[in-house]
Amino acid sequence: MIMTTTPSRGFQPVLDRIAEEMERTPGRGRPADYIPALAACDPRRFGMAVAEPDGTVYGVGDWREPFSTQSLTKVFTLALDLAREGDELWEHVGREPSGNPFNSLIQLEYENGIPRNPFINAGALVVTDRLQTRTGDAAGELLGFLRAESGNPTLGFDEEVAASEAAHGDRNAALAHFMASYGNIDNPVPVLLDQYFRQCSLTASCADLALATGFLARHGVRADGTRLLTGSQAKQVNAVMLTCGTYDAAGEFAYRVGLPGKSGVGGGIIAVVPGRCTLCVWSPGLDERGNSVAGVAALDRFTTLTGVSVF
Ligand code: GLU
Repeated sequence: MIMTTTPSRGFQPVLDRIAEEMERTPGRGRPADYIPALAACDPRRFGMAVAEPDGTVYGVGDWREPFSTQSLTKVFTLALDLAREGDELWEHVGREPSGNPFNSLIQLEYENGIPRNPFINAGALVVTDRLQTRTGDAAGELLGFLRAESGNPTLGFDEEVAASEAAHGDRNAALAHFMASYGNIDNPVPVLLDQYFRQCSLTASCADLALATGFLARHGVRADGTRLLTGSQAKQVNAVMLTCGTYDAAGEFAYRVGLPGKSGVGGGIIAVVPGRCTLCVWSPGLDERGNSVAGVAALDRFTTLTGVSVF
């Protein structure tokens, strides 16, 4: 059950304070402009939610407003695939920061079609491909998981965003074909791309995403008490988020925020405090590396004001 208040007010006062500070902060970056559906977002929008492991949620601002999750979904497909195939996945995708932009082709040739990590596009394509092989419907699997964990059966894909992604998808198509030439993609590339673009088009709110990330704070246990990942696998996913989750600004994010996090070009960021809580913040204005300007600032303030971090 979702509760918005508790007698102690939990994290609500700190969220209220952060929202006030963000309201006064000028300079919010620019929304992603590679597809019209994202370019039209107002960079002044701001929402933030914190979920405790028992499902209690606190929120502020536009925390119930659905937005385009984009690369945030890479965390969930990684977890869903890892749960099925375990360590074999790591023979097909690495777990080192890339130091290159999220959609770069350069490293792939040097490294024989094995992407550096599951959070750059090439790595996410490999993960989605493997999940597709195992389930026959990777995007449907993702949607079912997010609906169950968030308790929100209305979550869905934005067909307009998915179509727009496909219309501007030459680089992702190039990555997929290139990896297929190394034998690192199982499914026909058009099938994989369709799954990947639908995955990116999933729409959800900060409340939905803070709740859906809860299994990473509960050491792999889902909202209904069943286990998705072993404790060790949950630790691994958190570690890869910390080192690779915020494009090529993961060092700066770790320095400022001190939490495992994953960002998306829709302006969302999810973050995990193992054993304690999960967070999602959304503000569509991005910095030059693709991370939400107000989102990073708000998480920075959260860990500073509460003293909660993994360090
Ligand atoms: N759909 C986007 C792409 O693959 C995801 C980008 C992102 O959020 O990093 O280009």
